[in-house]
Amino acid sequence: MENIRKREKDLKREASDVKVLETFIGVYCRGKHRSRKGELCHDCAELLGYARARRLRCPLDPKPACKHCPTHCYAKKQLAAIREVMAYSGARLLLRGRLDLIWHYFF
Ligand SMILES: [Zn+2]
Repeated sequence: MENIRKREKDLKREASDVKVLETFIGVYCRGKHRSRKGELCHDCAELLGYARARRLRCPLDPKPACKHCPTHCYAKKQLAAIREVMAYSGARLLLRGRLDLIWHYFF
């Protein structure tokens, strides 16, 4: 029973992390690549797929914030890309007062 409850909590956390990923990459792609709302360019769609897969495969429990993680599971190229996304979108979301989205979890 305990395990099921823990699993539910993990799933919820995963879902909300993935949502945040989608939001950050969406803001970035609209601003930088002029994509339409709700759409991602090829590169950003690929990056989102990568980031989502990494998140769901994270073996650490409880999962630490990625910046404190000893593993650093991202490959160099994707790490550079996601950092750029975080910096760009984080600044914009801050300006818009979306503090609820500010990411304590990943980078
Ligand atoms: Zn893009």
